[in-house]
Amino acid sequence: MSVTTREIQALDSAHYIHPFTDHKSLSGKGARVITRGEGVYIWDSEGKKIFDGMSGLWCVNVGYGRKELIDAATRQLEVLPFYNSFFQTTNIPAARLADRITGLAGERFSHVFYGTSGSESNDTNVRMVRHYWETLGQPERSVIISRKNAYHGSTMCGASLGGMSSMHAQGGLPIPGIVHIEQPYHFGMAPDKDRGEFGIEAAGWLEQKILEVGPEKVAAFIGEPVQGAGGVIIPPKTYWPEIQRICDKYGILLICDEVICGFGRLGSWFGSELMGAKPDLMTFAKGITSGYIPLGGVVVGKRVAEVLIEKGGEFTHGFTYSGHPVACAVALANLDVIEREGLIERVREETGPYLARQFAELSDHPLVAGAETMGMVGGLVLMKDKSRHIGFDPSLDVGMVCRNHCFANGLIMRAVGDRMIIAPPLICSKEQIDEMMERVRICMDATLADLQSRGWMDADNQVHARA
Ligand SMILES: *Cc1c(COP(=O)(O)O)cnc(C)c1O
Repeated sequence: MSVTTREIQALDSAHYIHPFTDHKSLSGKGARVITRGEGVYIWDSEGKKIFDGMSGLWCVNVGYGRKELIDAATRQLEVLPFYNSFFQTTNIPAARLADRITGLAGERFSHVFYGTSGSESNDTNVRMVRHYWETLGQPERSVIISRKNAYHGSTMCGASLGGMSSMHAQGGLPIPGIVHIEQPYHFGMAPDKDRGEFGIEAAGWLEQKILEVGPEKVAAFIGEPVQGAGGVIIPPKTYWPEIQRICDKYGILLICDEVICGFGRLGSWFGSELMGAKPDLMTFAKGITSGYIPLGGVVVGKRVAEVLIEKGGEFTHGFTYSGHPVACAVALANLDVIEREGLIERVREETGPYLARQFAELSDHPLVAGAETMGMVGGLVLMKDKSRHIGFDPSLDVGMVCRNHCFANGLIMRAVGDRMIIAPPLICSKEQIDEMMERVRICMDATLADLQSRGWMDADNQVHARA
């Protein structure tokens, strides 16, 4: 490469405002420049090879450098790089993909609405459910209930649906008509309670909120089957069936945000399947194209689709790039790879359980508490004294300390507060899981030594000797 890392960092720092970034703290060191990817690895501009334990940003499910996806994009770019779907027109990949996705989603679903991201698709959900209730003559049913620490994107509506307090602190969010209940975080909120009972109790907060708002005003509940950006919060098994029961009881629509959980991440086509929920709408993005090109959308259940199509008139909503032919062609090729390689079955039956066992064993590390996975996502908590369930002072930003050790040791792991999370590509083999876990151990040891030398953790917490 003819440019140097420093040249790119200088351009970047002078002109590029990054997402979710404190630029003052970045500009001193300069951004890491990622230049190449292959399989489960990425390389930076200094030639350092890094195991991508986050699949880009929960999306590169089939791994980097897949010729099938590249060829599909190239072919479609040559034939028809773009045409819109506004003027009673369509294109071949968009129609074929809608058929394919609804087929995978099952019986209850009949249609797809396309956008280019998860955020736009959640905005679509809000507009669609409100239009649904207006069409049915119940316009007062407009309130959407969501959860604290949820992530549903970063547009005005997506950030409002989300429950990130740091996001709500800027720009007057949430917008009106969106309210939140607590998340079902057993380890963080009630570790001493029976997990199943806690799940029922947490779902009960939805019913309380419905009654508080007034059942006749509630349009929908939205939730991620497993909260991703909130720190990989895996709810108790009892949670989603109870949420479903409550939605049914009050006739409110259920939206599952499958942006991370969809297309194989948990070992199923959609996370809600495994969780025992029967959503009316499902948001997708990320894994649908393995991140090779932006595409998102909403899978629309028959309950909503029939009303919109039969009685709704024109739904005055859409995007220039709704049903983008190149993105849809890449998605079709991506689904082909997932099916041909049996990635979903492999995650469910083989690599997912393998990762779960390895991850659980991390709990023998003095720094690690509450390590669990589901399919190809996992999260663990860093604790100062796990025997007494005492965490670190949040201002120390221990997660960031750990993340930096991961980078230094050739592993991408993300920090959410003191939760460290992974979401490796679905193509990850058992050998690659071993390699990743070996690096995780090295990073945990390095973090522990660092924290002890800073005096943030007792020195008598010895690193356990391992074979
Ligand atoms: C990433 C994400 C979104 C937002 O998707 P963008 O493509 O970044 O707009 C929405 N919901 C969930 C669950 C996500 O993980």
